[in-house]
Amino acid sequence: MSAVFSIAIDGPSGAGKSSVARAVAKRLGAMYLDTGAMYRAIGLYMLKTGVPLDDAQAIAANCAGADVRVGYDAEGRQSVYLGDEDVSEAIRAAEVSLAASAVSTVPEVRARMVALQREIAKGHSVVMDGRDIGTKVLPDATLKIYLTASVDVRAWRRHLELAQKGMNEPYEKVREELIRRDELDTHRAASPLCRAEDAVEVDCSQMTLAQVEERIAALAREAMGAKA
Ligand code: C5P
Repeated sequence: MSAVFSIAIDGPSGAGKSSVARAVAKRLGAMYLDTGAMYRAIGLYMLKTGVPLDDAQAIAANCAGADVRVGYDAEGRQSVYLGDEDVSEAIRAAEVSLAASAVSTVPEVRARMVALQREIAKGHSVVMDGRDIGTKVLPDATLKIYLTASVDVRAWRRHLELAQKGMNEPYEKVREELIRRDELDTHRAASPLCRAEDAVEVDCSQMTLAQVEERIAALAREAMGAKA
């Protein structure tokens, strides 16, 4: 695929968006941007600086102080920084997941992140995953995917992913937190998680990563053909 294209992958927490988006980007030679990592970095910043997560005004007033940066290594792996500090690992902690959901309800935070995401992607073919990519960040994306899976499957996958990183969160706790984040993400006033009208829904409850990658690559080829 030679022309510049963009693929938006949205969906609830734990559906496997990041793994799928990374694989699709590699396969199609595009840049990958994990936008959730950026909200996580803001959440971590608020935790570190002691800003109360239930105080939207304080979050809005302090978000300009969070110097969120994104970098890539030679293999295209994304790292996230707060200033010069690489926080790529720290942002995966469970408390940071909830902090990310809390800060992402604040319009000032969203405005900053959306502007930064568009800036990073400018001029590149990109695969972006998040909650508002198809509806807000890239409304003219070449292809929009709404990736979903049952809550049990999502909780189990997230539980295994955390275990692989040495974080032993009990399954029930992971499931409860996912439900809480779904609730926050779908009910917030600012850019709530919802399927864009022109997005293709892919339920990956019964699919392997390779199958989802294949399906999205096929849809991308189709969309590129249609827009060529
Ligand atoms: O995708 P991930 O689980 O890392 O995202 C963390 C949180 O960041 C989500 O629960 C969601 O509240 C928020 N988010 C968002 N918009 C995005 C990406 C993530 O609101 N585009």
